[in-house]
Amino acid sequence: MSDLYRMSLAALVKGLKNKEYSVTEAVKSCLARIEATEPRLNACISVLGEQALARAAEMDAQGPPAANAAEAAPLWGVPMGLKDIISLKGCRNTCASRFMEDFVPFYDAEVTARLKKAGAVFLVKNNLDEFAMGSTTENSCFGRVGNPWDLGRVSGGSSGGSAASVVAGQVFASLGTDTGGSIRQPAAMTGCVGLKPTYGRVSRYGVVAFGSSFDQVGPLARNVEDCARVFEVIAGPDHKDAASARTDLYPDNLPEQDCLDKTLEGKGKEPGDVLKGVRIGVPEEFWGAGLDAEVEGCAMSPLKKLEEHGATLLPVSLPSQKYALAVYYIMSSAEASTNLARFDGVRYGRRARQPKDLLDLYYSSRSQGFGEEVQRRIMLGTFALSAGYYDAYYRKAAQIRRLLRNDFDRALDLASGGCHVLLAPASPKTAWTAGLYEADPLTTYKMDLLTITLNLVGLPGLCLPAGLGKETKMPVGLQIMGRPFDEAAMLRLGAVIERLTPDIGLPGALDGALDER
Ligand code: GLN
Repeated sequence: MSDLYRMSLAALVKGLKNKEYSVTEAVKSCLARIEATEPRLNACISVLGEQALARAAEMDAQGPPAANAAEAAPLWGVPMGLKDIISLKGCRNTCASRFMEDFVPFYDAEVTARLKKAGAVFLVKNNLDEFAMGSTTENSCFGRVGNPWDLGRVSGGSSGGSAASVVAGQVFASLGTDTGGSIRQPAAMTGCVGLKPTYGRVSRYGVVAFGSSFDQVGPLARNVEDCARVFEVIAGPDHKDAASARTDLYPDNLPEQDCLDKTLEGKGKEPGDVLKGVRIGVPEEFWGAGLDAEVEGCAMSPLKKLEEHGATLLPVSLPSQKYALAVYYIMSSAEASTNLARFDGVRYGRRARQPKDLLDLYYSSRSQGFGEEVQRRIMLGTFALSAGYYDAYYRKAAQIRRLLRNDFDRALDLASGGCHVLLAPASPKTAWTAGLYEADPLTTYKMDLLTITLNLVGLPGLCLPAGLGKETKMPVGLQIMGRPFDEAAMLRLGAVIERLTPDIGLPGALDGALDER
C-alpha cells in the first residue's frame, strides 16, 4: 500500500470507493512521499499532515458514499495540494511573501470549498513565485522549487510548487493560478497536465489577486482525465466573483459535466473517430524563430500523428502576437500595482516596527515585505498608470489587446471555416538551470511569450506533455488553445494526444535518486 501515491487520481478514487484501501492509507502514502522528497524539492510551504490524517480517519469511519451518491463526491479521499495563494480556512496563506508569512485566512476560497465538498483531502499548500510573479518559482521567500526531473533546474512558475508536487507523487492533483502562463508553463517544464480555463469559468473568490483581468484558477494533474475530474468540480458560476461567467454564455450551453464525458470519449473511441472533421490551427507566430530546436521537434510530433489520424492541420496567422509581450507586462503590472496597494502594513500582513509616521509605516512595511520582483512590477505598473503616461502605455496596450482577441476570433470562427483549436508549444525552452537568468529579468519575461497571449484574450489553454527534449532530456509541453468555454473539446483532444504520444512517465529520479541526492 505504500506506493499508492503512484496511482492515477481516477484509479485511486475507484479503489477507495471499493474499499480496497482506506483514505488513511492513501494519505500516509503521500505523507511518506513528502518526507522522502520534500527536503530537496521544496514544493510545499505548509504540510498539513495531522489535519489530513484526522480528516482521513473521519472519512474512513463514515465509509465511502453510497453508490448512487458517488457523483456527489467525485474526489472522495483524494490527497490534494493548493497553491499557497488560494485560501484554505485556518491554514496560513503566504503568497510566498514575507508580507503574508503569518496571514491566516478565516474562510475558504470558493474552489477550496467545492473541492472539500467533493471529498478532497488537503495535504499541502504549494510553493510559488511571490504573489505569482515569475516563471521559475525562484522568487519565493521560502526558497526555490527543484524540478523533479533534475533538481538543479527550475520547475517553471509561478505554480512551480504545485506542478513539482504532483509530478513527484506528493499529491494526486493541485490547483494553480494562471495570469500569464503560471499553470501551463510549469506543467510543461515538469511534464504534467495543466489547464487554464476560460476567463470567468472558475471562481477567484478567496484567491489573492495579481492581474484581475487575467487571473484564472485551474488544475494540475498527472494525466488529462485526472485534470478533467478536478476541473469539473471547481468550474461553474459563483456570484461571489464579479467576473464569474453565467452558464448561458457558454456555447451550446455546455454544462461543466460534459468535460469528463468528453475526455472519456477521447480516451475510449478510435482516434480517427474523434478526430474526424477536426480542424487544428498551427499559428506561425508561435512556431517561428526563438524556439529551441528540441522543443520544436518534440512539440511538432503529436501534430503529425493527429494529421495521420484524420485531423486537418491549417496554417494560421495571429499578426498582433508580436505585441503580446509588451502589452502583457504593461497591463498585468498596472493591475498588480493597484491590487497590491492594499498591502500597506495596516490592513494585512507584516507591519514595520516603530515607524516615524504614517508614510514611513507604508514605505517601510512595503519595502521590507515585498521582494525584488514584486517591487519591480509595482514600479512598472505605477509608472504605466501615472498621469501623462496612461494614454501612451495603458490605453494603447488595451487597444492592442482587442486586436489580439480579434485575431483569435478570426482563427477560431467555425462558421467561416476557422479552427476548433490551435496548437503550439508552451515554452520556447525546456526547464533551465536554476539561477541562469537571475540578473536578467527581461530574458525571463521573454520566456513567457507563448503563454501570456491566452490570458490577454481570455481564452482557455490546456498544456500536456509532448515528450522529452532530445538534448536536455527534460519534458516539453504542448498547448491546446481553444474557443471560449470549450474546455470539453480541448480535454477530449488532449486525451487523444495523450494516447498518440509516448508516455514520458514519472521522472526516473522518483525511483529513488530524488530521495537520495
Ligand atoms: N510569468 C508570468 C509573470 O511573471 C506569468 C505569471 C502568472 O501567470 N502568474 O507575470
